[in-house]
Amino acid sequence: MPKKYHIEAKAAAPRHTPIGRHGIVDFNEDCAGACHHCVKKECIYDIYRKEGIFTREMPGELHYLYSCMNCLRCVQNCTRAVVTRTVNPEFRWLGDAYWKPEMLLTTWYQAETGKIPVSGAGYRGPFAGPGFDNMWTDMSEIVRPTRDGIHGREYISTSVDVGAKLTELSFDERGQLAVAPPPVLELPVPFVLGIPHFGDWSPGAYEAFARAAQAIRTLCVIDPGLVTPNLEPYRAALAPAVSGATISRHRDAIAGARLVQLEYDDAFAANVAAIKLIAPGAVVTVRAPIDADSHLLAERLVAAGVESITFAANHHGRSGAFGGGEFIKESFRRIHAHLMAKGVRDTVTLIASGGIALAEHMAKAIICGADLVVVDIPFLIALECRMCMNCTLGRPCPVDVAGTPPEHGARRITNLASAWHSQLLEVLGAMGLREVRRLRGEYGRAMFQEDLERETFQALFAGKRAKGQ
Ligand code: SF4
Ligand code: SF4
Repeated sequence: MPKKYHIEAKAAAPRHTPIGRHGIVDFNEDCAGACHHCVKKECIYDIYRKEGIFTREMPGELHYLYSCMNCLRCVQNCTRAVVTRTVNPEFRWLGDAYWKPEMLLTTWYQAETGKIPVSGAGYRGPFAGPGFDNMWTDMSEIVRPTRDGIHGREYISTSVDVGAKLTELSFDERGQLAVAPPPVLELPVPFVLGIPHFGDWSPGAYEAFARAAQAIRTLCVIDPGLVTPNLEPYRAALAPAVSGATISRHRDAIAGARLVQLEYDDAFAANVAAIKLIAPGAVVTVRAPIDADSHLLAERLVAAGVESITFAANHHGRSGAFGGGEFIKESFRRIHAHLMAKGVRDTVTLIASGGIALAEHMAKAIICGADLVVVDIPFLIALECRMCMNCTLGRPCPVDVAGTPPEHGARRITNLASAWHSQLLEVLGAMGLREVRRLRGEYGRAMFQEDLERETFQALFAGKRAKGQ
C-alpha cells in the first residue's frame, strides 16, 4: 500500500511576541492576600506565574498575553473579584474588516504548532455574516470514514488534478490509444502558494515560500523576475507567472516548469501556444480577474482549448476595480454551474484566488466549484505578518518579515499547511467523503443562508407587503 500523504509539523516559535488578545487587569489593593486556593495559582496555563516573572525580570517578551485562553476561571472564582480580563487594544487594530484579528491569531498559532486550532466548547460568533460566513458545511456523516481518526487506517485523499481531462478515449485497430492525453499535474493538496500583493519581501522570504512549497509537494506561483540564485534548488516547486510580453524573457523558467500561469489578454491563445512550444509537458493556467461575466469568459477559454483557468478576486475575495463587486463564492457557483450546463466542466481545472483566509474557506471554495485554490496572505501571516500595511507605505516592517531565516519561515509555512490539511481531512471525514475531488461542486454538502431564508420565509411572507407599504 502506498505511503499516506502527510505534512510533518514541527514546533517553530515566533521570532517576535505575537500580539495577544487579552490583557489582565488586577486590582491588587482589594486582594485579601492570603486565600488558600488563590485563583492565580490555579490557572492551568500558568499565566500569573509568567506574569510575575515578567514583572520581576522584564525579559522583554510578554508571552503571557499570548497564552491566556480567556477561560475566565480566574475571573469567576476570585472571592474578592479583583481579577478581570480585557481585550488588548493593539489586538483590535490587527488586520481589517475581512482579515479579522482572530484570523491572524489563529494563523500564528497554526504556524507555530501545526495543530488544528481549538476554540473551546460552543460557538460564540454571529450566526451568519458576509462572504464565506453565510455558508455552512454539512457534517452529518461524522461517524463514517473516520472511525479511528483523520490519520487512521481509512485513507482520505486530498489530491487534485490540474489540467484538462479527456472526456472519452478512442483506440486504433491495434488497441492503442488514439488520442494524445493532455498533461495533467497531480498535487497532493488542493492549494498552491501565491505571493501576496504586499509584504516586506527579501530573497530569504521568497525562499521560505519556495522551500515550503517543495516540502508540501505543491507549487509556489511566482514572477520569475523575483527568482534569485538562492531559489534555484527549489525550481521544481516554482510555477512561473508570466504575461504575453514576458514569455520570451522567461524562457528558462518556463522550460522546466510543470505549471505556468499566464495573464489573460486578447492574445491568450497565441500565448498559450508559445508557452507550449517551450514546455510541452507543462499545464498552462490562464489567470483572469473575476467578474460578473466570468462564466462567459470561462466558456470561451474552454472552447479555445484552455486547460486551466485561475479566476482572481481581490484579497477580500471580491471582484471589481475597487473590490465592491460580487464575492468569489457566488462567482464560482455561477461559473461551475454554467460549465456543467455546457457539458464541459471536466475539460478544465478552475483555480480560485483571493480571499482564502482560513482552511474552511478552501473547503467552501471547492464546494462552490473550484478544483483548488491559491493561498497567499495566510502564508505571509505565517511569517508573523501583522497586516499593518507599513510595507505599502515605505515604512519599516514591525516584525522584519524580510529577515526571516528561510528554513524557519519554511517550517512555519509548512506547519500552517499541515494544520489546514488536517482540517480538510476533518471536513471530508465529517462529510463521509474519501477524496477532495468529490467535494467539488457538492452544493448538497452545504447550506447557504439565502437558500435557508428562502425555504423558511418565502412560504410565510410570499405575496405579503411589508407593514407600511
Ligand atoms: S482567564 Fe483562564 S487562562 Fe486566562 S489567566 Fe485566567 S484562568 Fe488563566
Ligand atoms: S507586518 Fe506590516 S510591514 Fe510587515 S509585511 Fe506585514 S503588512 Fe508589511
